[in-house]
Amino acid sequence: MKYWSQTYIPTLKESPADAEIASHKLLLRAGLVRKLGGGLYTFMPAGLRVMQKISQLCREEMDREGAIELAMPFIHPVDNWVDGPRWSAAREIMYRVDHAGAGKGRSKEPEFVLGPTHEEVITPLVKSEITSYRDLPKNFYQIGTKFRNEIRPRYGLMRAREFVMKDAYSFDATDEAASASYHKMKRAYLAFFTRCGLKTIAVEADTGVMGGSFSHEFMVPAPVGDDDIVYCDESGYSANREKATSGLVPADLADAAPVGATEEFATPGIVTIAALAAAGVPADQQFKTLVYMGDGKPFLVILRGCDDLEEAKLGALGFQLWRPATPEEIEPVMGAKPGSLGAVKGTIKNPEALAGIFADQAIRLIGNGTTGANKDGFHLRHVNVTRDLAITKFGDFRTVRAGEPDPKSGQPLKIARAIEVGHIFKLGTKYSEKFGAVYTDDQKQSHPMVMGCYGIGISRTLQAVIEQSNDADGIVWPWQVAPWQVLVVNLDPQDAAASDLCKKLALAAEAAGADVLVDDRAERPGVKFKDADLIGLPLRLTVGGKGLKEGIFEMKWRTSKDVRKIPIADAETTIA
Ligand code: ATP
Ligand code: MG
Ligand code: MG
Ligand code: MG
Repeated sequence: MKYWSQTYIPTLKESPADAEIASHKLLLRAGLVRKLGGGLYTFMPAGLRVMQKISQLCREEMDREGAIELAMPFIHPVDNWVDGPRWSAAREIMYRVDHAGAGKGRSKEPEFVLGPTHEEVITPLVKSEITSYRDLPKNFYQIGTKFRNEIRPRYGLMRAREFVMKDAYSFDATDEAASASYHKMKRAYLAFFTRCGLKTIAVEADTGVMGGSFSHEFMVPAPVGDDDIVYCDESGYSANREKATSGLVPADLADAAPVGATEEFATPGIVTIAALAAAGVPADQQFKTLVYMGDGKPFLVILRGCDDLEEAKLGALGFQLWRPATPEEIEPVMGAKPGSLGAVKGTIKNPEALAGIFADQAIRLIGNGTTGANKDGFHLRHVNVTRDLAITKFGDFRTVRAGEPDPKSGQPLKIARAIEVGHIFKLGTKYSEKFGAVYTDDQKQSHPMVMGCYGIGISRTLQAVIEQSNDADGIVWPWQVAPWQVLVVNLDPQDAAASDLCKKLALAAEAAGADVLVDDRAERPGVKFKDADLIGLPLRLTVGGKGLKEGIFEMKWRTSKDVRKIPIADAETTIA
């Protein structure tokens, strides 16, 4: 039992101006966190309790599937990363640790970096520890701080520079065994998120810079999410945007960002015209094409419903064609020549011809646009890339509008924004080969271990729970992750009878397995009730005032408006 006066829960009436989304506002207003700087937060006592609870649920589910907890350093020798398979891709997000001896690493980088994740540490560790098939499989995990130099930290804990992650790494002798480890983790994740009271969708994801053979992301559907998921309730298909559009991306262009594009627009799907044609993209009114020849650089963009897009603005998008197309090439396809302003609008008249010209080209395909400029210039976020552009299946390219049928099930594909709270990869042998993490089999043959890696954003999960579970008055904590489950509100903290009854109720609730907070502050009832709703503990018991004189106390669930009056004599039985 904890008395409010003996802990510190600094609730706020107003939300600080820089908090944009509901969960970020509530984190601050309910006194769970305080900001130190962009993407850097102090966990206040109640926030820390939630973190510890979520961590514990995660630990239990990992342990249940046989994963083994350890703790690795946060500071890594830079050479671990330089020797790893993704230094060039990962270095941008890493904080380097400067100190007197800096610059001595082989890479001429500072000697140390702050760990953004731990493959580069665990793989050499396992290499030196495990040599025989007899010691496999192993899955090691930790729950700890990660550091990433995010370009745009935002939304509180959602995208922070320093955050808490559970990361696990599995090592198996065979590919089959690695798949089994992967599926155990998938099961653990589903169990974990369910216990957190969080509705998630597991979507197929691209393996991207991690390499590896397959991957799922655990997504919380929410309008404020940074990711798009494409799914179909009927067929069960679900994928993130990158995965849904991959297979169309020539490998060497997968990482290429459009020249001059702003961040919001840096990752539209890239497709080849050949892929479009091969997939039978209809050449009718659906697709408007626009060829931009400005700046001496030709760009070709296929748009839908963007008749009024102004070519000058398009230049800002940086749509770059990988090989220049000449007006003569374009004319037969478009039925029009690029105009003096360098733009052609029209429909694709001859997709085969287009495919012929651009067979080896990559173009950037964007969806239905509400493109436009305002006084500040051209804002790319007005282009709605994936809302209307979905690819039904990996390798099976079609463009569809959200809400149009999915040919497979005949049911509409849905596209939604989502928050990535977890991510699992079957890595294969990319890291084990690079670091020489090999084992010998029973024939004394040596093989690289087959790895998997598995992350959960613990601190992001905390905020995602709030984002998914709140109302106009405050947070509505799911039972398992609430900082305390029961709030006993003492309306008369000066009154010995009220205080005694509060204590009695609190002890009864504790005996029944709940964590209890007693609001013993000398505040007006109105303040206490507002704060009770704001901090959102699942069950509220109110003692004092008229009720106490009448021999009752009140019981109210945060999810309901009903207030039950309970005779004091029935207190213990009711709470148990
Ligand atoms: P994102 O796509 O949001 O940048 P990520 O794919 O880079 O995340 P992973 O490397 O897959 O993240 O890390 C595992 C988990 O760590 C993510 O699923 C997410 O929940 C969490 N995470 C990643 N970056 C951050 C961050 N900056 N702040 C808080 N949590 C994060
Ligand atoms: Mg990231
Ligand atoms: Mg991601
Ligand atoms: Mg990820």
